[in-house]
Amino acid sequence: MTVPAGTDPYVPGHGDASYSVGHYDLHLGYKVDRNRLDGDATLFCEARGDVTALELDLHTLRPSKVFVDGRPVRHQHRRGRLVVRPPRRIPAGVEFEVRVRYAGNPRPVRSRILGTAGWEELEDGVLVASQPHGAPSWFPCNDRPDDKATYSLTLTAASDYQVAFTGELVDRRRGASSATWMYEQEVPMATYLAAVQIGRYDVTELEAPVPMRSLTPQPPDSAGYDAAFGRQPEMMAYFQDAFGPYPFPSYTCVITHDDLEIPLESQGMSTFGRNFMADDWDCVRLVAHEMAHQWFGNAVTLGAWRDIWLHEGFACYAEWLWSEQSGAASTQTRVDHHHARLSELDEDLVIGDPGPRLMFDDRVYKRGALTLHALRCEVGDTTFFRLLRTWVEQHVGGTVSTRDFVAHTSAAAGRDLTALFDAWLYGAGLPPVPKL
Ligand SMILES: [Zn+2]
Repeated sequence: MTVPAGTDPYVPGHGDASYSVGHYDLHLGYKVDRNRLDGDATLFCEARGDVTALELDLHTLRPSKVFVDGRPVRHQHRRGRLVVRPPRRIPAGVEFEVRVRYAGNPRPVRSRILGTAGWEELEDGVLVASQPHGAPSWFPCNDRPDDKATYSLTLTAASDYQVAFTGELVDRRRGASSATWMYEQEVPMATYLAAVQIGRYDVTELEAPVPMRSLTPQPPDSAGYDAAFGRQPEMMAYFQDAFGPYPFPSYTCVITHDDLEIPLESQGMSTFGRNFMADDWDCVRLVAHEMAHQWFGNAVTLGAWRDIWLHEGFACYAEWLWSEQSGAASTQTRVDHHHARLSELDEDLVIGDPGPRLMFDDRVYKRGALTLHALRCEVGDTTFFRLLRTWVEQHVGGTVSTRDFVAHTSAAAGRDLTALFDAWLYGAGLPPVPKL
């Protein structure tokens, strides 16, 4: 049996369903001044069907040698796809290793519909923002959100830069002019959530209920930092109460020297531009939003991009929860405000399947959050927060669907809640404002 290369219709041309990757071992060397990346990646894979050729995603960067189980093999690299032909058929269920040596000048992956994502040069450093299609800008991968893997990363760069990765630092070796950073990520991670951030940062360990640190630009802006980011430890404690234990060993907040249009989440890490260091609810709410993604999006990840509300609706609702908890407007006030605003907008998208062009439309965020509020009003606070915690507990490190969530909530409530979700996620009109 041959399993066809399966791709998500929202991110066509990425991913291959014929195999899965259990672990990525990435060895990278990077020259910041020349934006030059030299990579040596080993993917520990398992065949899902009988494999005669498999496809990896790799954009811009050029593979020089490819090995399967240690033997050099034929390969072709075209339009972001690296086709690898093992010397003989790999039967379903058999494990194998693919090693790719590659190099080049990484740049973001461009898509007419999805925009650009991935490895991006800053004024003096790098950030990686891969949602949803940017991972192949820096390593060869099976780029599908439902194929999570563990990671090891070794990266060598000039010694005056900090290198942060979405994992735990296990070793750092300083040479005369360069430093080698070694990280491990043991909680399975989707390709788009893997990221490195390289820059000249001050590192501050925070006093918090879990290991937390901030990487801030030099020179510091302590007033702006305190206003927007100062309550992160308290936020972490509150979210642990609401959503259950923080799902990763540590949390890193990176604030780049450059301004950024939007912040971005990656596994165990959030990245903001320095323009977010301001005394402004829009900055505070996004600090809460990105932190909440650690539970909803990063630990528990959609299997298909049409279910993006499972990330954005939840992270947006977390903003409104934090608003009340922090002494700002109550959650119900935020709900009323955004329901009123939404009722004035066109209702020409389906929250539960918005299409790739509108995947990150603000209406997905706000109506997704209202859906959760409607659920909370329906089942009551005790059941609502319990079902959020068990949702994370049962799916940490895995992937989920809207159907899973409807089944989960219905089981928790002891009655079928399909009609509620149908109205909020798939119905044309906006249901009436839910009240606590
Ligand atoms: Zn988000």
